[in-house]
Amino acid sequence: LPLPSGSQCLRDIFITEISLLSVTWYPLPTSFQLYPCDTCGRQYRSKISLQRHKRLECGKEAQFSCILCHAKFKHKHSLLRHYNVHIADMKITNTFENADRST
Ligand SMILES: [Zn+2]
Ligand SMILES: [Zn+2]
Repeated sequence: LPLPSGSQCLRDIFITEISLLSVTWYPLPTSFQLYPCDTCGRQYRSKISLQRHKRLECGKEAQFSCILCHAKFKHKHSLLRHYNVHIADMKITNTFENADRST
């Protein structure tokens, strides 16, 4: 970063730095509102995020279930990862079937 030309600028940068640090180190100012979930206590910075959480996540454990073994997963990516187990199983089964036919 280029050095500021005047001491006034330097002071402004210093104040900005201090205020940035205070946001990190100390409790947030009262004007900064957080929206806590009344069900699980998670806090969100915006009402939209809280609403999204309540609608999609909160109290909805394991809304994705495996169509093959009915194992339940909270997140879609977890279910997709779980499917790899079945895909692997199928590949092994197919290999055995092919082996049986060949012999
Ligand atoms: Zn919640
Ligand atoms: Zn499964």
